[in-house]
Amino acid sequence: MIYVGSHISSAKGFAAMGRQALALGANTFAFFTRNPRGGAAKALDPADVEAFLDIAREHGFGKLVAHAPYTMNACSSKPEVRAFSWRTFGEDLERMEHIPGNYYNFHPGSHVGQGTEVGIRFITQMLNTHLKPEQRTTVLLETMAGKGSEVGGRFEELKAILDGVEVKEHMGVCLDTCHVWDGGYDIVEHLEEVLEEFDRIIGLSWLKALHVNDSKNPLGAKKDRHACIGEGELGEAAFGRIVRHPVLKSLPMILETPNDEEGYRREIALLRKLYAQKRI
Ligand code: FE
Ligand code: FE
Ligand code: ZN
Repeated sequence: MIYVGSHISSAKGFAAMGRQALALGANTFAFFTRNPRGGAAKALDPADVEAFLDIAREHGFGKLVAHAPYTMNACSSKPEVRAFSWRTFGEDLERMEHIPGNYYNFHPGSHVGQGTEVGIRFITQMLNTHLKPEQRTTVLLETMAGKGSEVGGRFEELKAILDGVEVKEHMGVCLDTCHVWDGGYDIVEHLEEVLEEFDRIIGLSWLKALHVNDSKNPLGAKKDRHACIGEGELGEAAFGRIVRHPVLKSLPMILETPNDEEGYRREIALLRKLYAQKRI
């Protein structure tokens, strides 16, 4: 059995997300902690959270992979953007404690010309400001495509961030298949070698979740344009090898493909079918 799901709108609350996940055939999902373009988060309704937790328990959901808003940039050159990002991060972590034991994934940030080292320092500072030893949420750094001045396009950069974090036990990494491909890691022809490299540089014990996306662009393009599974440069067979891989198959797998509901339902079923093929 694998844990697979897609992004689901959080507009109608937690219980509605749980029911939507079931309708899609999902047993995990991702949601934006607030409008992906930023803005204030809605107040939490304890009854809604309870109803969701009942659904998740009853249907054996895996860990959820919440996603921070895109407007967050922990290492912006603008102090007001950094302040907004750090504050948002802290608030989101507090909210996540209402659904304890899940993941909160964020894009490390873009250094916008300040250099990778400065970027890494700001990101680490944000994490050290808000991570608490007693928290029950694990924060995930997402592997990035390396578009523009993005930090996190190389495994070494994620490792440098992790090295600077004090509360390491609540940290992990989310591997986005489109992003690593665009970043130049060939998970189609050399999945084994890429995972070995991840293990050597970061350590596979840090790998906690997958974003499962095909890519519209060739290896190393650094573009970050997601494609539907099997319709991009990675191809369906590569996803079969990914979902069946012994070190990947137990991780929550989140689709972020350009789909409507019906498309997500189909792709969730496709990933389950690929998993069941049990081939190498
Ligand atoms: Fe992302
Ligand atoms: Fe992603
Ligand atoms: Zn992306």
